[in-house]
Amino acid sequence: MKNFFKKNVLIRLFILVFPVTFFVGCESGSGPMDINLFTASDDVQLGKQLDSSITANPAEYPILNSTSHTQYVQGIVDEILKSPEIEYKGTFSYKIKIINTNTINAFAAPGGYLYVYKGLLKFVDNEATLAGILAHEIAHAERRHSTKRMTKQYGITLLLSVILGNDPSVLEQIGANLLSGLALLKNSRDDEYEADEYSFLYLKSSKWYPGAIKYFFEKISEQNQSEPSKFEELLSTHPLDSKRTEKIDEYLNLFNIPAPTEANLFTTTYQQWRTTLP
Ligand SMILES: [Zn+2]
Repeated sequence: MKNFFKKNVLIRLFILVFPVTFFVGCESGSGPMDINLFTASDDVQLGKQLDSSITANPAEYPILNSTSHTQYVQGIVDEILKSPEIEYKGTFSYKIKIINTNTINAFAAPGGYLYVYKGLLKFVDNEATLAGILAHEIAHAERRHSTKRMTKQYGITLLLSVILGNDPSVLEQIGANLLSGLALLKNSRDDEYEADEYSFLYLKSSKWYPGAIKYFFEKISEQNQSEPSKFEELLSTHPLDSKRTEKIDEYLNLFNIPAPTEANLFTTTYQQWRTTLP
């Protein structure tokens, strides 16, 4: 891992010295810096390592050992991946694991390693909403938000340490930091807006109502008033504001999506399935 980082990132760093300096020099502080020092296969390697750390820590991340429940959620993921908007279907893993705790959250490691908590599966009320959330996580992986943030966070440090040659341990620190506390999974507001937008695009041509993720936002906002601790973890990794619901409504209007029906929400089948969760 350390050698992998040194060899690959350093080569790309030199290639990218000028663009990085240019972009950083021009950055006004608003809008995401859309460059990435990592390749898509780096995302896969990082995700694989993170996945190993997660499965090696059952105290914090107990994986639900139920093939039928995992297959049901994986079936939704596989259906979303049929969208022509998906770029890394053959490259990224796109395998889901259910974490067997009552936390209400989901996350994506780089390279398409996806995780959803049982608490979230019990919290949502229809399959279209779950599909919206899974599509949102797929979008974080597809848009490579983690490694873009790492580029932004470490770009200059890396550059200076390479140019000055005074701190060979910087790259090793990055590798280690990645796996501590899942810090790389903390998304910015811009990442959230973009993941919502792509979630909508992925679902637009699917059997699900593409705006159903807003029901999740609305239910959180309602319950967060009385039980804020319930959503602490979710909101620390996926910032939520009223603009996210407004933007979903804008996309629904823009594409003239008619009001949802049971035929594209799948409320009854979902709520039946939900009762079978342990
Ligand atoms: Zn998110």
